[in-house]
Amino acid sequence: MECKKCGRPAVYVDKRSGTALCEDHFREGLEERVRKEIRSEGIGKDRRHIRIVMGISGGKDSLVMMDLLWRVEREYDVELIALTVDEGIEGGEYRGKRFDLIRRMANERGIKWELRSFKQKYGFTLDDSVVALKGREEPCSICGVLRRRALNDYAKELGADYLAIAHNLDDEAETVLMNVIRGDPQALRRSENYADELAAFYVPRIKPMRRITEREAAFYAYLMGIPAEEEECPYARLSLRDQVRSFLDSLARDHPAVLDSLVRFGDELKEKGKGFSRSRCASCGYPTSGGREYCRVCEINFAVKKALIGANQEG
Ligand SMILES: [Zn+2]
Ligand SMILES: [Zn+2]
Repeated sequence: MECKKCGRPAVYVDKRSGTALCEDHFREGLEERVRKEIRSEGIGKDRRHIRIVMGISGGKDSLVMMDLLWRVEREYDVELIALTVDEGIEGGEYRGKRFDLIRRMANERGIKWELRSFKQKYGFTLDDSVVALKGREEPCSICGVLRRRALNDYAKELGADYLAIAHNLDDEAETVLMNVIRGDPQALRRSENYADELAAFYVPRIKPMRRITEREAAFYAYLMGIPAEEEECPYARLSLRDQVRSFLDSLARDHPAVLDSLVRFGDELKEKGKGFSRSRCASCGYPTSGGREYCRVCEINFAVKKALIGANQEG
């Protein structure tokens, strides 16, 4: 197979379009999509200096994002900071090796690396909260809620204009379909662009990878020499997301455009939800959903602290 653009030997074939590409043109294609996504957010339109904090977990997508943003941002007056939030999961070397990799990759690119933790932010680790809420909350759900808030608040502290999240096209399509399956149109309409009075709480999020498929990200990671096997989180188990993923994988074999269609569907609903006003948490003041008195972060926080105090009194 030859590269469609230059005729040199191809290294990658896009299943959706059947296009074969050499290494240079494969890379160029990904950079172009990142550039497009960033431009659509208005970055690079004016001459002002912009600081982007990247949420870097150490997973392959986050490291690919770091590299792609670093290549693309050189065209603009953009400062990149890598932010890692350690959830506090013991055992299984789960995060330690990845932290070394993040440090090295950030160093090589002259990017500052900031390491924070759940412990610092909430006073307890993910492990503590899983034990405290055993049987009441799924670990992945606790982790997702707490990590999202921690990334946002630390990005704000670091003076970020934007928080970059490494969700790829597959992730985005899965999220749309999951909300359909759960019958949660509110979640689909919930735009990341809140009404003005709530904008003060959130750093605007960008997703530079949202036009890049899982398979493309994996191949880019391979070209970068990022170790392929990611150690699995010890709390991972078969989730709705896993089932949706394998369903979409098999569907995409016969209908390659299905991921793009789902993302476009979600985007159109979101557009309608722009500027949506929401109720506020009685404790921290952050936006809440579904008429809750307290936000999910505060609910988890109270429940864990109550359980921990209970355990201390018994012991
Ligand atoms: Zn080529
Ligand atoms: Zn709250």
